[in-house]
Amino acid sequence: MPLRAKVASSVSRTAAALSRAAGRGDGSVIGGWIGLKIDPDLLAHLANGRAIALVSGTNGKTTTTRLTAAAVGVLGPVATNSYGANMPTGHTSALAKAGHTPYAVLEVDEHYLAQVIAATTPRVVALLNLSRDQLDRAKEVAMMADLWRTALADHPDILVVANADDPMVVYAAVASPQVTWFSAGQRWHDDSWVCPQCGAPIERQADQWWCVNCPLRRPTPQWTVEDDGVIDPRGAWHKVNLQIPGKVNVGNAATALAVASQFGVRPTDAVGRLSTVTSVAGRYAQVMRDGRNIRLLLAKNPASWLEAFDMVDHAPTLLSINARDPDGLDTSWLFDVDFAPLRGRQVLITGDRAYDLAVRLEVNGVPFRHVLSFDEAVTSVPPGRLEVIANYTAFQDIRAELDRVN
Ligand SMILES: [Zn+2]
Repeated sequence: MPLRAKVASSVSRTAAALSRAAGRGDGSVIGGWIGLKIDPDLLAHLANGRAIALVSGTNGKTTTTRLTAAAVGVLGPVATNSYGANMPTGHTSALAKAGHTPYAVLEVDEHYLAQVIAATTPRVVALLNLSRDQLDRAKEVAMMADLWRTALADHPDILVVANADDPMVVYAAVASPQVTWFSAGQRWHDDSWVCPQCGAPIERQADQWWCVNCPLRRPTPQWTVEDDGVIDPRGAWHKVNLQIPGKVNVGNAATALAVASQFGVRPTDAVGRLSTVTSVAGRYAQVMRDGRNIRLLLAKNPASWLEAFDMVDHAPTLLSINARDPDGLDTSWLFDVDFAPLRGRQVLITGDRAYDLAVRLEVNGVPFRHVLSFDEAVTSVPPGRLEVIANYTAFQDIRAELDRVN
Protein backbone atom coordinates (compact mmCIF):
# COMPACT_ATOMS: atom_id res chain seq x y z
CA MET A 1 0.00 0.00 0.00
CA PRO A 2 1.14 3.60 -0.53
CA LEU A 3 2.55 5.30 2.59
CA ARG A 4 -0.47 7.56 3.00
CA ALA A 5 -2.80 4.53 3.02
CA LYS A 6 -0.57 2.73 5.53
CA VAL A 7 -0.69 5.70 7.90
CA ALA A 8 -4.44 6.08 7.42
CA SER A 9 -4.98 2.39 8.08
CA SER A 10 -2.89 2.45 11.23
CA VAL A 11 -4.61 5.58 12.59
CA SER A 12 -7.99 4.01 11.77
CA ARG A 13 -7.15 0.91 13.82
CA THR A 14 -5.93 3.00 16.75
CA ALA A 15 -9.01 5.23 16.75
CA ALA A 16 -11.30 2.19 16.69
CA ALA A 17 -9.38 0.59 19.56
CA LEU A 18 -9.53 3.79 21.63
CA SER A 19 -13.26 4.06 21.02
CA ARG A 20 -13.74 0.44 22.13
CA ALA A 21 -11.58 1.01 25.22
CA ALA A 22 -13.71 4.03 26.10
CA GLY A 23 -16.79 1.81 25.95
CA ARG A 24 -18.31 3.68 23.01
CA GLY A 25 -19.37 0.70 20.92
CA ASP A 26 -17.12 -1.31 18.64
CA GLY A 27 -15.43 1.77 17.15
CA SER A 28 -15.76 0.73 13.52
CA VAL A 29 -17.57 3.87 12.36
CA ILE A 30 -15.17 6.39 13.94
CA GLY A 31 -12.12 4.32 12.93
CA GLY A 32 -13.24 4.17 9.30
CA TRP A 33 -14.24 7.83 9.29
CA ILE A 34 -10.78 9.00 10.43
CA GLY A 35 -9.01 6.64 8.03
CA LEU A 36 -11.02 7.96 5.07
CA LYS A 37 -10.33 11.57 6.13
CA ILE A 38 -6.60 10.90 5.89
CA ASP A 39 -6.84 8.92 2.65
CA PRO A 40 -10.13 9.12 0.71
CA ASP A 41 -9.03 6.07 -1.34
CA LEU A 42 -8.27 3.97 1.74
CA LEU A 43 -11.11 1.51 1.15
CA ALA A 44 -9.87 0.81 -2.39
CA HIS A 45 -6.29 0.31 -1.13
CA LEU A 46 -7.44 -2.06 1.61
CA ALA A 47 -9.64 -4.01 -0.82
CA ASN A 48 -6.85 -4.41 -3.36
CA GLY A 49 -5.57 -8.00 -3.59
CA ARG A 50 -8.52 -9.57 -1.78
CA ALA A 51 -11.30 -11.66 -3.30
CA ILE A 52 -14.41 -9.92 -2.05
CA ALA A 53 -18.12 -10.72 -1.81
CA LEU A 54 -20.67 -7.99 -1.04
CA VAL A 55 -24.05 -8.84 0.48
CA SER A 56 -26.91 -6.35 0.18
CA GLY A 57 -30.69 -6.17 0.57
CA THR A 58 -33.30 -4.71 2.88
CA ASN A 59 -33.47 -7.66 5.29
CA GLY A 60 -31.24 -10.52 6.40
CA LYS A 61 -27.94 -9.07 5.27
CA THR A 62 -26.18 -9.15 8.65
CA THR A 63 -27.06 -12.82 9.19
CA THR A 64 -26.34 -13.81 5.58
CA THR A 65 -22.98 -12.03 5.73
CA ARG A 66 -22.09 -13.99 8.85
CA LEU A 67 -23.16 -17.29 7.26
CA THR A 68 -21.27 -16.47 4.05
CA ALA A 69 -18.09 -15.56 5.94
CA ALA A 70 -18.34 -18.92 7.73
CA ALA A 71 -18.75 -20.76 4.39
CA VAL A 72 -15.93 -18.92 2.58
CA GLY A 73 -13.79 -19.54 5.69
CA VAL A 74 -13.19 -23.07 4.29
CA LEU A 75 -10.56 -21.43 2.06
CA GLY A 76 -8.75 -19.30 4.64
CA PRO A 77 -9.06 -16.15 6.78
CA VAL A 78 -11.99 -13.88 5.88
CA ALA A 79 -12.32 -10.20 6.82
CA THR A 80 -15.90 -9.16 7.59
CA ASN A 81 -17.88 -6.30 9.15
CA SER A 82 -19.62 -8.56 11.62
CA TYR A 83 -21.32 -5.90 13.73
CA GLY A 84 -23.54 -4.43 11.06
CA ALA A 85 -21.51 -1.25 10.35
CA ASN A 86 -22.45 -1.51 6.68
CA MET A 87 -21.39 1.79 5.12
CA PRO A 88 -17.93 2.60 3.69
CA THR A 89 -16.64 3.73 7.11
CA GLY A 90 -17.53 0.29 8.50
CA HIS A 91 -15.94 -1.54 5.53
CA THR A 92 -12.75 0.51 5.83
CA SER A 93 -12.52 -0.20 9.53
CA ALA A 94 -13.21 -3.93 9.11
CA LEU A 95 -10.50 -4.37 6.45
CA ALA A 96 -7.96 -2.24 8.36
CA LYS A 97 -8.56 -4.26 11.51
CA ALA A 98 -8.36 -7.65 9.76
CA GLY A 99 -4.93 -7.02 8.25
CA HIS A 100 -3.97 -9.18 5.25
CA THR A 101 -6.66 -11.72 4.47
CA PRO A 102 -7.16 -13.36 1.09
CA TYR A 103 -10.96 -13.01 1.36
CA ALA A 104 -13.52 -10.50 2.57
CA VAL A 105 -17.30 -10.77 2.91
CA LEU A 106 -18.92 -7.40 3.50
CA GLU A 107 -22.48 -6.45 4.34
CA VAL A 108 -23.45 -3.32 2.39
CA ASP A 109 -26.29 -0.89 3.04
CA GLU A 110 -28.42 -1.01 -0.11
CA HIS A 111 -28.01 2.73 -0.73
CA TYR A 112 -24.20 2.39 -0.84
CA LEU A 113 -23.93 -0.65 -3.09
CA ALA A 114 -22.82 1.25 -6.22
CA GLN A 115 -20.20 3.22 -4.28
CA VAL A 116 -18.80 0.14 -2.54
CA ILE A 117 -18.69 -1.83 -5.82
CA ALA A 118 -16.64 0.99 -7.34
CA ALA A 119 -14.25 1.10 -4.37
CA THR A 120 -13.73 -2.64 -3.76
CA THR A 121 -14.09 -4.32 -7.20
CA PRO A 122 -15.84 -7.37 -5.71
CA ARG A 123 -15.79 -10.78 -7.35
CA VAL A 124 -19.33 -11.59 -6.15
CA VAL A 125 -22.37 -9.48 -5.24
CA ALA A 126 -25.31 -11.14 -3.48
CA LEU A 127 -28.72 -9.44 -3.72
CA LEU A 128 -31.24 -10.65 -1.14
CA ASN A 129 -34.45 -8.60 -1.36
CA LEU A 130 -35.87 -5.08 -1.55
CA SER A 131 -38.84 -3.89 0.48
CA ARG A 132 -40.10 -0.73 2.15
CA ASP A 133 -37.95 0.47 5.04
CA GLN A 134 -37.77 3.70 7.06
CA LEU A 135 -40.50 5.60 5.25
CA ASP A 136 -39.12 9.05 6.06
CA ARG A 137 -35.66 8.34 4.72
CA ALA A 138 -35.23 5.29 2.49
CA LYS A 139 -35.72 5.43 -1.25
CA GLU A 140 -38.78 4.08 -3.01
CA VAL A 141 -38.21 0.39 -3.65
CA ALA A 142 -38.36 0.72 -7.46
CA MET A 143 -35.86 3.59 -7.34
CA MET A 144 -33.46 1.44 -5.31
CA ALA A 145 -33.84 -1.40 -7.85
CA ASP A 146 -32.95 1.04 -10.64
CA LEU A 147 -29.76 2.14 -8.83
CA TRP A 148 -28.68 -1.47 -8.37
CA ARG A 149 -29.45 -2.24 -12.01
CA THR A 150 -27.27 0.63 -13.22
CA ALA A 151 -24.41 -0.35 -10.91
CA LEU A 152 -24.45 -3.96 -12.14
CA ALA A 153 -24.71 -2.96 -15.82
CA ASP A 154 -21.54 -0.89 -15.32
CA HIS A 155 -19.63 -3.92 -13.91
CA PRO A 156 -20.38 -6.93 -16.15
CA ASP A 157 -17.41 -8.86 -14.69
CA ILE A 158 -19.11 -9.27 -11.30
CA LEU A 159 -20.67 -12.66 -10.51
CA VAL A 160 -24.15 -11.83 -9.24
CA VAL A 161 -26.00 -14.17 -6.87
CA ALA A 162 -29.62 -13.06 -6.70
CA ASN A 163 -33.02 -13.96 -5.26
CA ALA A 164 -35.31 -15.27 -8.03
CA ASP A 165 -38.37 -14.81 -5.79
CA ASP A 166 -38.18 -11.01 -5.57
CA PRO A 167 -39.26 -9.22 -8.78
CA MET A 168 -37.37 -6.08 -7.75
CA VAL A 169 -34.13 -8.01 -7.29
CA VAL A 170 -34.61 -9.87 -10.59
CA TYR A 171 -35.19 -6.58 -12.42
CA ALA A 172 -31.89 -5.25 -11.01
CA ALA A 173 -29.89 -8.46 -11.52
CA VAL A 174 -30.82 -9.18 -15.15
CA ALA A 175 -28.65 -6.19 -16.07
CA SER A 176 -25.69 -8.48 -15.34
CA PRO A 177 -24.54 -11.13 -17.84
CA GLN A 178 -23.48 -13.50 -15.03
CA VAL A 179 -26.26 -14.30 -12.57
CA THR A 180 -26.72 -17.36 -10.35
CA TRP A 181 -30.29 -17.48 -9.03
CA PHE A 182 -31.34 -18.79 -5.66
CA SER A 183 -34.83 -19.23 -4.27
CA ALA A 184 -35.14 -18.31 -0.62
CA GLY A 185 -38.88 -17.64 -0.64
CA GLN A 186 -40.50 -14.26 -0.10
CA ARG A 187 -43.29 -13.94 2.43
CA TRP A 188 -43.74 -10.19 1.86
CA HIS A 189 -45.24 -9.31 -1.55
CA ASP A 190 -46.60 -5.83 -0.98
CA ASP A 191 -43.72 -4.00 -2.66
CA SER A 192 -43.78 -6.01 -5.86
CA TRP A 193 -47.26 -6.11 -7.33
CA VAL A 194 -46.23 -3.71 -10.09
CA CYS A 195 -43.61 -4.58 -12.70
CA PRO A 196 -40.52 -2.34 -12.25
CA GLN A 197 -39.79 -2.68 -15.96
CA CYS A 198 -43.12 -1.64 -17.54
CA GLY A 199 -45.59 -0.76 -14.77
CA ALA A 200 -48.06 -3.58 -15.57
CA PRO A 201 -49.40 -5.86 -12.81
CA ILE A 202 -47.37 -8.83 -11.60
CA GLU A 203 -49.28 -12.08 -11.18
CA ARG A 204 -48.37 -14.87 -8.78
CA GLN A 205 -49.21 -18.53 -8.58
CA ALA A 206 -47.54 -20.76 -5.99
CA ASP A 207 -43.79 -19.99 -6.30
CA GLN A 208 -44.06 -18.46 -9.76
CA TRP A 209 -44.51 -14.80 -10.67
CA TRP A 210 -44.62 -13.00 -14.01
CA CYS A 211 -45.42 -9.62 -15.53
CA VAL A 212 -48.64 -9.73 -17.55
CA ASN A 213 -47.19 -7.38 -20.17
CA CYS A 214 -43.42 -7.80 -20.60
CA PRO A 215 -40.88 -10.67 -20.43
CA LEU A 216 -39.93 -10.09 -16.77
CA ARG A 217 -40.71 -13.29 -14.87
CA ARG A 218 -39.23 -15.54 -12.22
CA PRO A 219 -36.01 -17.12 -13.49
CA THR A 220 -35.36 -20.78 -12.75
CA PRO A 221 -33.26 -20.88 -9.57
CA GLN A 222 -30.13 -23.06 -9.43
CA TRP A 223 -30.09 -23.09 -5.59
CA THR A 224 -33.29 -23.90 -3.72
CA VAL A 225 -34.53 -24.74 -0.24
CA GLU A 226 -36.30 -28.00 0.52
CA ASP A 227 -37.39 -28.85 4.07
CA ASP A 228 -34.42 -28.04 6.31
CA GLY A 229 -31.85 -28.34 3.55
CA VAL A 230 -30.45 -26.73 0.44
CA ILE A 231 -30.43 -28.21 -3.08
CA ASP A 232 -27.35 -27.27 -5.10
CA PRO A 233 -27.20 -26.78 -8.92
CA ARG A 234 -26.32 -30.48 -9.40
CA GLY A 235 -29.48 -31.53 -7.58
CA ALA A 236 -27.76 -32.74 -4.39
CA TRP A 237 -29.58 -32.00 -1.13
CA HIS A 238 -27.51 -30.77 1.84
CA LYS A 239 -29.00 -30.84 5.30
CA VAL A 240 -28.48 -27.53 7.06
CA ASN A 241 -28.18 -27.60 10.86
CA LEU A 242 -28.60 -24.02 11.99
CA GLN A 243 -28.55 -22.66 15.50
CA ILE A 244 -30.64 -19.69 14.39
CA PRO A 245 -34.40 -20.05 13.85
CA GLY A 246 -36.80 -19.73 10.93
CA LYS A 247 -37.27 -20.86 7.36
CA VAL A 248 -35.92 -17.48 6.28
CA ASN A 249 -32.51 -18.46 7.68
CA VAL A 250 -32.45 -21.72 5.70
CA GLY A 251 -32.89 -19.40 2.69
CA ASN A 252 -30.01 -17.28 3.96
CA ALA A 253 -27.93 -20.46 4.25
CA ALA A 254 -28.71 -21.28 0.60
CA THR A 255 -27.49 -17.81 -0.35
CA ALA A 256 -24.30 -18.27 1.67
CA LEU A 257 -23.55 -21.61 -0.02
CA ALA A 258 -24.28 -20.12 -3.46
CA VAL A 259 -21.88 -17.21 -2.83
CA ALA A 260 -19.17 -19.49 -1.42
CA SER A 261 -19.42 -21.75 -4.48
CA GLN A 262 -18.48 -18.75 -6.64
CA PHE A 263 -15.13 -18.85 -4.80
CA GLY A 264 -14.83 -22.57 -5.50
CA VAL A 265 -16.10 -23.82 -2.14
CA ARG A 266 -18.07 -27.07 -2.39
CA PRO A 267 -21.34 -27.08 -0.42
CA THR A 268 -20.40 -30.35 1.28
CA ASP A 269 -17.31 -28.64 2.71
CA ALA A 270 -19.11 -25.47 3.80
CA VAL A 271 -22.45 -26.67 5.10
CA GLY A 272 -21.11 -27.89 8.47
CA ARG A 273 -19.58 -24.49 9.21
CA LEU A 274 -22.97 -22.77 9.04
CA SER A 275 -23.91 -24.29 12.39
CA THR A 276 -21.10 -22.28 14.04
CA VAL A 277 -23.25 -19.16 13.64
CA THR A 278 -25.31 -18.79 16.81
CA SER A 279 -26.45 -15.23 17.29
CA VAL A 280 -25.46 -12.21 15.26
CA ALA A 281 -24.89 -8.93 17.16
CA GLY A 282 -27.57 -9.99 19.64
CA ARG A 283 -30.09 -11.17 17.03
CA TYR A 284 -31.52 -14.55 18.04
CA ALA A 285 -29.57 -14.42 21.33
CA GLN A 286 -31.10 -16.43 24.16
CA VAL A 287 -30.63 -15.31 27.75
CA MET A 288 -31.83 -16.80 31.03
CA ARG A 289 -33.18 -14.35 33.59
CA ASP A 290 -35.30 -15.21 36.64
CA GLY A 291 -36.33 -18.54 35.13
CA ARG A 292 -37.35 -16.97 31.82
CA ASN A 293 -35.64 -18.05 28.63
CA ILE A 294 -35.60 -14.77 26.71
CA ARG A 295 -35.03 -14.81 22.95
CA LEU A 296 -34.28 -11.59 21.04
CA LEU A 297 -35.54 -10.98 17.51
CA LEU A 298 -34.81 -7.78 15.59
CA ALA A 299 -37.52 -6.63 13.17
CA LYS A 300 -37.15 -3.28 11.45
CA ASN A 301 -39.77 -3.08 8.72
CA PRO A 302 -42.98 -4.84 7.60
CA ALA A 303 -41.23 -7.68 5.76
CA SER A 304 -39.03 -8.51 8.74
CA TRP A 305 -41.98 -8.38 11.19
CA LEU A 306 -43.73 -11.02 9.08
CA GLU A 307 -40.62 -13.21 9.22
CA ALA A 308 -40.35 -12.69 13.00
CA PHE A 309 -43.95 -13.88 13.54
CA ASP A 310 -43.02 -17.01 11.62
CA MET A 311 -40.02 -17.65 13.90
CA VAL A 312 -41.55 -17.17 17.34
CA ASP A 313 -42.75 -20.09 19.44
CA HIS A 314 -46.31 -20.01 20.77
CA ALA A 315 -45.20 -18.27 23.99
CA PRO A 316 -45.60 -14.89 25.72
CA THR A 317 -44.28 -12.18 23.42
CA LEU A 318 -42.99 -8.68 24.17
CA LEU A 319 -43.14 -6.13 21.34
CA SER A 320 -41.09 -2.94 21.60
CA ILE A 321 -41.16 -0.01 19.18
CA ASN A 322 -39.11 3.18 19.19
CA ALA A 323 -39.01 5.88 16.51
CA ARG A 324 -35.59 7.43 17.04
CA ASP A 325 -33.27 8.45 14.25
CA PRO A 326 -31.86 4.98 13.37
CA ASP A 327 -35.39 3.51 13.37
CA GLY A 328 -36.98 6.09 11.10
CA LEU A 329 -39.39 8.58 12.65
CA ASP A 330 -42.57 7.45 10.91
CA THR A 331 -44.34 4.47 12.51
CA SER A 332 -47.26 4.34 10.09
CA TRP A 333 -45.71 1.18 8.60
CA LEU A 334 -47.18 -0.66 11.61
CA PHE A 335 -50.42 -0.65 9.62
CA ASP A 336 -48.72 -2.59 6.79
CA VAL A 337 -48.16 -5.53 9.14
CA ASP A 338 -50.88 -8.04 10.02
CA PHE A 339 -50.47 -8.75 13.75
CA ALA A 340 -53.18 -11.45 13.71
CA PRO A 341 -50.61 -14.29 14.06
CA LEU A 342 -50.10 -13.07 17.66
CA ARG A 343 -53.72 -13.77 18.67
CA GLY A 344 -54.12 -16.35 21.42
CA ARG A 345 -50.88 -15.65 23.23
CA GLN A 346 -49.91 -13.26 26.02
CA VAL A 347 -48.78 -10.03 24.31
CA LEU A 348 -46.91 -7.25 26.12
CA ILE A 349 -45.92 -3.92 24.59
CA THR A 350 -43.32 -1.32 25.52
CA GLY A 351 -40.96 1.27 23.98
CA ASP A 352 -41.18 4.99 23.16
CA ARG A 353 -44.02 4.37 20.71
CA ALA A 354 -45.91 1.66 22.58
CA TYR A 355 -49.16 3.61 22.11
CA ASP A 356 -48.81 3.48 18.31
CA LEU A 357 -48.46 -0.27 18.70
CA ALA A 358 -51.47 -0.30 21.06
CA VAL A 359 -53.69 1.31 18.41
CA ARG A 360 -52.47 -1.12 15.79
CA LEU A 361 -53.12 -4.18 17.99
CA GLU A 362 -56.56 -2.83 18.94
CA VAL A 363 -57.46 -2.55 15.24
CA ASN A 364 -56.19 -6.10 14.68
CA GLY A 365 -58.18 -7.45 17.65
CA VAL A 366 -55.09 -8.67 19.53
CA PRO A 367 -55.37 -8.29 23.35
CA PHE A 368 -52.22 -6.82 24.98
CA ARG A 369 -50.83 -5.24 28.13
CA HIS A 370 -48.56 -2.18 28.30
CA VAL A 371 -45.45 -2.52 30.50
CA LEU A 372 -43.17 0.38 31.45
CA SER A 373 -39.88 -1.51 31.42
CA PHE A 374 -38.18 -4.66 30.24
CA ASP A 375 -37.95 -5.86 33.87
CA GLU A 376 -41.71 -5.45 34.27
CA ALA A 377 -42.19 -7.54 31.14
CA VAL A 378 -39.99 -10.33 32.52
CA THR A 379 -41.86 -10.47 35.84
CA SER A 380 -45.26 -10.35 34.07
CA VAL A 381 -44.84 -13.68 32.31
CA PRO A 382 -44.61 -17.19 33.79
CA PRO A 383 -41.24 -19.01 33.85
CA GLY A 384 -40.36 -20.42 30.44
CA ARG A 385 -39.92 -18.85 27.04
CA LEU A 386 -40.35 -15.09 26.49
CA GLU A 387 -40.07 -13.98 22.87
CA VAL A 388 -38.96 -10.37 22.31
CA ILE A 389 -39.51 -8.66 18.95
CA ALA A 390 -38.15 -5.12 18.76
CA ASN A 391 -37.10 -2.57 16.19
CA TYR A 392 -33.57 -1.19 16.04
CA THR A 393 -33.03 1.14 19.01
CA ALA A 394 -35.63 -0.72 21.09
CA PHE A 395 -33.62 -3.88 20.44
CA GLN A 396 -30.38 -2.15 21.45
CA ASP A 397 -32.02 -0.86 24.69
CA ILE A 398 -33.09 -4.37 25.65
CA ARG A 399 -29.71 -5.78 24.66
CA ALA A 400 -28.07 -3.22 26.99
CA GLU A 401 -30.36 -4.41 29.84
CA LEU A 402 -29.02 -7.89 29.19
CA ASP A 403 -25.39 -6.70 29.43
CA ARG A 404 -24.93 -6.28 25.65
CA VAL A 405 -25.53 -9.92 24.92
CA ASN A 406 -24.09 -11.11 21.63
ZN1 LIG B 1 -43.42 -5.75 -17.13
